[in-house]
Amino acid sequence: MNKIEHIGIAVNDLQSAGNIYEKLLNTKVYKIEEVQSEGVKTAFLMNGPNKIELLEASNPDSAIAKFIAKKGEGIHHIAFEVDDIRAEMKRLKEDGFVLLNEEPKLGADNKLVCFVHPKSANGVLVELCQSVI
Ligand code: ZN
Repeated sequence: MNKIEHIGIAVNDLQSAGNIYEKLLNTKVYKIEEVQSEGVKTAFLMNGPNKIELLEASNPDSAIAKFIAKKGEGIHHIAFEVDDIRAEMKRLKEDGFVLLNEEPKLGADNKLVCFVHPKSANGVLVELCQSVI
């Protein structure tokens, strides 16, 4: 696994959270994207080399809606960049980690993604992501 690719933050309202993070980081949201398969709307900000992904549920069945109902707004996941997502998925599975998807999925920001169950990682939802160009 390579560097942290981004940190995902669950928010109630993408617009107001975007405004807050624009002020906090003194930079603009550079991309807003809906991932319909995941039921999320996302907004991205860069702060130096670090990327923040804000996530708002786009329907009540979304994992983000469930997360916020249970835990409130806050850090939702940490994403690590990988060169070969299938190889990393295989390695983690063989090591006993529980993956939330068997095949890589197309996520936001042109990434193939796979999530590792928080129960496997001390309560942290971990995302693997590989850039697709
Ligand atoms: Zn993410």
